[in-house]
Amino acid sequence: MLWHNSGLDYQYGEGQKKSGPPHHAGGAITDSKKTCLAVDIGGTNIRLGLVRADGQILTSHSLATDSARGPEKIITTLINNLKTLAAAAPLACKPQALAIGLPGWIDQTRGILIKAPNMPGWSNIPLASLMREAINLPVYLENDTNLYALGEWCHGAGRGLKNLLVITLGTGVGGGLILDGHLWYGSFASTVEIGHIPIALAGGATCGCGQRGCLETVASATGMIRLAHNWLKEKNPTTYKGNPADLTPKIMHGLARAGDPMSLAIFKKAGKALGLVLADIFNLLGLEGVVIGGGAAGAFEFLQPPLRRILNERILITGAASIKLLPSELGNKAALVGAPNLITALSPTCV
Ligand SMILES: [Zn+2]
Repeated sequence: MLWHNSGLDYQYGEGQKKSGPPHHAGGAITDSKKTCLAVDIGGTNIRLGLVRADGQILTSHSLATDSARGPEKIITTLINNLKTLAAAAPLACKPQALAIGLPGWIDQTRGILIKAPNMPGWSNIPLASLMREAINLPVYLENDTNLYALGEWCHGAGRGLKNLLVITLGTGVGGGLILDGHLWYGSFASTVEIGHIPIALAGGATCGCGQRGCLETVASATGMIRLAHNWLKEKNPTTYKGNPADLTPKIMHGLARAGDPMSLAIFKKAGKALGLVLADIFNLLGLEGVVIGGGAAGAFEFLQPPLRRILNERILITGAASIKLLPSELGNKAALVGAPNLITALSPTCV
């Protein structure tokens, strides 16, 4: 056993903050040869790489997560891969820390993954100390969407903005919020649960969180596919003749471009739902823009018009037209690219 759930009183990794989440503003990068090991753990695969302080990925590869193997075997494989990666780095680029993005809730003060809802068995894992002992580097843990947001903010579509929301349309709808030039954690080091904001007072599909009518039942990749399955069951008009189980947002995007009424209607509905939620957030916080990423964001060209229309109707405190709606620039590399910005010692500045 790599760890015991009853014994979580381990030593902190050198680089892990002992109180509160890390801050991200710092001095300018003076040495772009500084690197870190970066890991992005997802439900289906793990991306890992060696990343320079300025966000350039020097080398990277993927591993299958294969959740059925359980966390212990996956973590052991990950450790072996990270050791190989570090050993292969040229002397001038040896990594100075390890940053890990995880799809769940993290106790950053104690360096523990509390729970990854979509990964069975991944709960109460003292990942920071495990990795610190195995890799002998300071270890930083972060929610994967927050790491994605750091990547897009510091090196991608959100560059130069001080107040920004980054959302991902994937299995759910994730969010990372940049307020006044800092990644925002609130008082509870929580993630931004934008996916569970309701889009109606009553009704709607049941969400994974147990409530009904959450944003992600309509605007996540999973939600869009669910809507498509309903559309097909009701025998509404569509040009799609394939197996419903094969439908993906990418296929729907291609269909929409050819005028398919099903795909166009679903993207319109998703765009409107995003508009309703984002208008409230913009009115509340006065953000400069939103970066939209994740698997379903490829259809940005169809999501944007209804989203912009709702913003124009509902934004009160700032000019809706000046709010930037930005497609992700870094795609599934964003979390790796953002990893150095989590690490105080590398101290990159983002705005
Ligand atoms: Zn929900």
